[in-house]
Amino acid sequence: MDFNRRAFIGTAAALGATLAAPHVRADGHGRPRVVVVGGGAGGATAARYIAKDSEGAIDVTLIEPTRKYYTCFFSNLALGGFWDMEDLAHSYGKLAADNGINVLHDWAVGVDRDAKTVSTAGGHVLPYDKLVLSPGIDFVEGAVPGWDVSAQNAMPHAYKAGSQTELLKAQVLAMPEGGVFAMVAPPNPYRCPPGPYERVSMVAHMLREVNPTAKILIADPKETFSKQGLFEQGWGLAYPGMIERVGPDFGGENVEVDPAAMTVSIDGDVQQVDVCNVIPAMQAGKIAHDAGVTDGRWAPVRGTDLASRMDEDVYVLGDAAAQGDMPKSGYSANSQAKVVANAVRGALTDARVFPARYSNTCWSLIDDENGVKVGATYEGTEEKIAKVDGFVSQTDETPQTRAETFRESLGWYAAITADMFGATS
Ligand SMILES: Cc1cc2nc3c(=O)[nH]c(=O)nc-3n(C[C@H](O)[C@H](O)[C@H](O)COP(=O)(O)OP(=O)(O)OC[C@H]3O[C@@H](n4cnc5c(N)ncnc54)[C@H](O)[C@@H]3O)c2cc1C
Repeated sequence: MDFNRRAFIGTAAALGATLAAPHVRADGHGRPRVVVVGGGAGGATAARYIAKDSEGAIDVTLIEPTRKYYTCFFSNLALGGFWDMEDLAHSYGKLAADNGINVLHDWAVGVDRDAKTVSTAGGHVLPYDKLVLSPGIDFVEGAVPGWDVSAQNAMPHAYKAGSQTELLKAQVLAMPEGGVFAMVAPPNPYRCPPGPYERVSMVAHMLREVNPTAKILIADPKETFSKQGLFEQGWGLAYPGMIERVGPDFGGENVEVDPAAMTVSIDGDVQQVDVCNVIPAMQAGKIAHDAGVTDGRWAPVRGTDLASRMDEDVYVLGDAAAQGDMPKSGYSANSQAKVVANAVRGALTDARVFPARYSNTCWSLIDDENGVKVGATYEGTEEKIAKVDGFVSQTDETPQTRAETFRESLGWYAAITADMFGATS
């Protein structure tokens, strides 16, 4: 008898067998099967909640190539010198040991939606009753002329955390005195709306310590950006004269880079730089496109349960989904994953399905103990995930409030990563 079956029978007996028996699938393969592709913020949470709340009634396989997941969230704090890289690292042992999830370290390379199978680079073919895709983002080829992923060592994106984050930090520390750090900011929509600007704050924080005459130049295709007033006020107070942002009015959307020459051209004006952080336009991770559930760059889904508009048996969540009003964030992905888990359990067992409610908060650190936040709650409608109400930090807040916000963000990180990966990393 396997672990999951034993756990289910034990729990059912303890509850006086009040739980519904697991559905036996029509084709006779026993427990219903769910395959989750991507073990990041969304996928790990979905796999954990489906397995945990179904108490073994559903067979869950999580496909994720990396053995250690580095959170993008709080990776800017590593650039700023506040956190070590290992503070960002999480492994998958708890999901297997505590929740009976079959964790397969492999790449999903194909989805056959007619046969309802996922194939992997390692040669496995996994059947599913429900498929959950949370593959995060990939970059749009050619989005920044002169840059492609083969240039990511010369000009890192650091928008998938891990070695790219370490590389960018090493490059910042190696900048010559008075050198220039350039950032090519992405167009909407993209992963973590305040992320590039928190990064600028954290790079400025590091440079203020080690290289105070250095400059930061942002080429930005957007008219406005998330928490703009808060960031610009904070930069003026903490890093006066260090940061210059070139918006679209001054050519910020007309950018080319030359990674070999280490130049950035903004509206034809070529500048020599020492570090160049290129964050290109984004789209859903490749496997979502391969599965045929995207429409353009993103995967359209229902707001009530994140089911694909193309296939009722496929759910797409997190950054890859075109879901409506939620920003692409780790908190959003975690929140969406719980709705998906509930919907999947409802479809495959007799679990009760609750109306979809979502929440998100994006914290950013501007300087020591200077944290700000923006957040909202949402409801699921047939058309989209729709914003209900929201809040944002104010520019006239006291240093105490900012310090409390920063502490709140640390508590959030500990709690949400435990919620995604199990109690310890
Ligand atoms: C600098 C920065 C700062 C951020 N700060 C915050 C923050 O403060 N708060 C916040 O909430 N969010 C923040 N975010 C955003 C957050 O990291 C993402 O929104 C979140 O990780 C999205 O979750 P996801 O599951 O969609 O994708 P991911 O977490 O990226 O997970 C996707 C996973 O899928 C795997 N995968 C991809 N393709 C395949 C395949 N074919 N087969 C198998 N596995 C595959 C990948 O290896 C990856 O592990 C930040 C992001 C950045 C870049």
